[in-house]
Amino acid sequence: MLERRTHTAGELRATHAGADVIVQGWAQNVRDRGGVVFIVLRDRYGTVQVTLDERSPEAARETAKKVAQEYVLQVRGTVVERFKPNEDMATGAIEIVAKDLEILSSTKPLPFSVSAAQVDAHEETRLRYRFLDLRRAQLQHNLIARHKATHAARQAFDAMGFLEIETPILTKATPEGARDYLVPSRVHPGQWYALPQSPQLFKQLLMVSGFDRYYQIARCFRDEDLRADRQPEFTQIDLEVSFPTRDVIMEITERIVAAMWKAVLGVEVGEVQRIGFHEAIARFGLDAPDLRFGMEHVDLTEAFAASTFPPVAQALADGGIVKAFVVPGGAEASRKVIDGWTAFVRTYGLGGLMWGKLGDDGLSGPLGKALPEGMGPDAFAALVGASHGDLVLVGAGAASAVHPGLGRLRVAIAKERDMIPADTYVFCWVLDFPMFERDDDGNWQAMHHPFTSPIPEHIPWLGTDKMGEVLTNAYDIVCNGQEIGGGSIRIHSAEVQQKVFEALRIGPDEQQDRFGFLLEALAHGAPPHGGLAFGLDRCVSILTGADSLRDVIAFPKTTSAQCLLTDAPSSVPQADLDVLKVRSTVP
Ligand code: ASP
Repeated sequence: MLERRTHTAGELRATHAGADVIVQGWAQNVRDRGGVVFIVLRDRYGTVQVTLDERSPEAARETAKKVAQEYVLQVRGTVVERFKPNEDMATGAIEIVAKDLEILSSTKPLPFSVSAAQVDAHEETRLRYRFLDLRRAQLQHNLIARHKATHAARQAFDAMGFLEIETPILTKATPEGARDYLVPSRVHPGQWYALPQSPQLFKQLLMVSGFDRYYQIARCFRDEDLRADRQPEFTQIDLEVSFPTRDVIMEITERIVAAMWKAVLGVEVGEVQRIGFHEAIARFGLDAPDLRFGMEHVDLTEAFAASTFPPVAQALADGGIVKAFVVPGGAEASRKVIDGWTAFVRTYGLGGLMWGKLGDDGLSGPLGKALPEGMGPDAFAALVGASHGDLVLVGAGAASAVHPGLGRLRVAIAKERDMIPADTYVFCWVLDFPMFERDDDGNWQAMHHPFTSPIPEHIPWLGTDKMGEVLTNAYDIVCNGQEIGGGSIRIHSAEVQQKVFEALRIGPDEQQDRFGFLLEALAHGAPPHGGLAFGLDRCVSILTGADSLRDVIAFPKTTSAQCLLTDAPSSVPQADLDVLKVRSTVP
């Protein structure tokens, strides 16, 4: 018979000795030592040893013989101090001598071990049996950390006067640069809802309504080709503020980050540095720089202008750039390792990597040939900041290949060579983003989203040949080289919003059709406003050191957007489609 639990498996200590307790949980481990049965009972609070020996009634000892791993048990017993405490267990000072043992539930054979320190199953199997996978200590830890992070964020928001307000899931498209998930309307055949890519437009409307501090832990949906570490549905901590200066939003964001890091790791987040977008690209090649280690990039474009080495000369003739970074102590890197790095940068469109080692006989390696006339090895070493024993890596080509190629290589090498300090969290703000970038077809598109405000001085440049120079009041917050949040000051004037739409070649009809409600709202007394959204999954993966976003989401999807547990997506009966007046063209 199910009884009321008196204690959890994780909380019993020597001070409980003598107490009669009732605990419930899973048999993590069962050992029969010649008639004495030891069961390690687990619940989400921890584990405790249950012992059945001559002190236990015969019936309980008989039941114990039937218990197997992951059976669900109820134990009534007495807490007894152990002769030899088990230092590895939080409850190791005691054990429970069972007076009564009941099997509440048994299990089919397990597809993998829940308690093994190392996962012994393919991720596919783990995802198919996610309910078992989630019993593992690591995933329990991750989801508890996730709860702590969101709880701390909620408390911090509340303390700053924010209101938690929900926004619709069945809605109209909110462009964030991905494809929409669409849901057919039964009531309005031929018409479709879109799932929100973010609550962006609704939170702006809430500002127009006067709720001057909004937040939400919001689910977002983006149908895009999934890269290794992306999820089609994910969670944002989303916020918006009326009458903010950029600094106000940044301070609020820093307080939320500080609360989450403190709650989960007990870590104080120190000062958050600020870096301009162009500076970040110049120094690190990436707009989400990892500041935990050095190896900053050095621009050699001017210094190498006179180089006659074909890869350099060609790159410069084509309007490209030349950049370098120094791998400290890297001169001992083998040819094979350097070839691996060359292959790595090629995936970013760089033709190759020029390298040189600073040793006893100066600069060895292909780089020697690239030095422009008159520049000796010493001058070159001084220019890039290299010393004896270092390796210098140089890339020449289009900026769009050199920056990401060398930028990612810098991070890859730091990981490979163990240059990244453990348990260190370095945050920075990246500011002053360009408003527009060109897409693959050469058309301008919003770099953040089209509701981001250009800085006022640049508004006249919209639609002119200075589009590429228009700057925004957008900001990203980065931790350890990963963007964890991003936002902007918004456009709060219908006219400016229309100008931006026009600059993006969204004509008046399309503006009305897609964003008419926003333009109306902006024309009815919209306050200046701005905000930001954190990628919660990303934050939790950094907080827990998880290898994958899937490890911090209870029921994640695979990289091909499938839920292996429920088998979604799946086909539906024709009759269901008929009701929706939707016809499938897939045979
Ligand atoms: N809606 C934006 C995003 O999802 C965040 C923001 O601008 O607040 O990236």
